Amino acid sequence: MTTEILPRSLQRTDICACVGRGGFGRVYKEYQPLDDQYYAVKKIPIDEETAGRILSETRIMARLSHPSIVRYYASWIEKTDEPPDDDDDENDEEETRLVRQKSLVCLCIRMELCVGTLRDYMDGRSEDTRQSIEYWIQVLSGIAYLHQKGIVHRDLKPENVLIDAENRAKITDFGLARVLPTTEPTAGTPVGSALYASPEQRAGVAYGTETDIYSLGMILFELVYPSVTVMERLERVDRLKKDEEPVRLIDRAIRSMIGIPEKRPSARSLLDFFYSKGTGML
Ligand code: ATP
Ligand code: MG
Repeated sequence: MTTEILPRSLQRTDICACVGRGGFGRVYKEYQPLDDQYYAVKKIPIDEETAGRILSETRIMARLSHPSIVRYYASWIEKTDEPPDDDDDENDEEETRLVRQKSLVCLCIRMELCVGTLRDYMDGRSEDTRQSIEYWIQVLSGIAYLHQKGIVHRDLKPENVLIDAENRAKITDFGLARVLPTTEPTAGTPVGSALYASPEQRAGVAYGTETDIYSLGMILFELVYPSVTVMERLERVDRLKKDEEPVRLIDRAIRSMIGIPEKRPSARSLLDFFYSKGTGML
């Protein structure tokens, strides 16, 4: 390593690999020689039109400190003349538009590096309901923290829950998150992922913190009842909703979370409930 003092813009870090990609950006594993640590750096192409919306992700992340929320370290804007390597071409319309403008300006967000996602766990798991519930309660505690700060995540899904090296679940991707101006539900635009977004969010009508409770309920449902097909999943959800009096406490909890918004429990009350019952829920 050189001891020459370089301006910050010239201090190199080593990008080791692309570790993930979503609708907005790519995430790279980065080595930082100055502190001898590995980080994750999310690079989101931006332009004048999108800058305001995209900067809210980093502004929200910077305010958060909780064991179930991915840790934020820094952010900066970077200009690259090279588009990122093309490994697949889906979802690339926005990127292509920006690349065509010759130079690509990215918002870079440095955060802690995790080893996988809850989706990877769901895809690869052998039946381990205890582990599933443990992860889910960790996510719930992160959501309770966010809601207490007046923040709604709005895009909770297994791909946005990371698993760290200590096997702890952590919420990430605050690209759609919003700070509620008051305790009143906020007027909405239809955003989020079809399977996990609440009906009111999909419809774009007013929604508040209870939209995250719906997503949490759907994630819990999927952890407890792994489904092979989307059809099978819809049928099972339907059955659960119609069931007069579900026997298992966990089924009752799921049902309350995916029911009508006004009757969904708060994250805090769910947390108290799950802590008091532990795996007795099963
Ligand atoms: P979306 O399509 O959900 O809007 P996005 O473009 O906003 O996604 P992220 O969800 O933040 O991007 O990240 C995309 C993927 O990159 C994640 O699903 C995960 O696989 C991987 N990833 C993100 N952050 C990290 C991290 N800190 N450590 C390891 N992998 C990560
Ligand atoms: Mg994501």
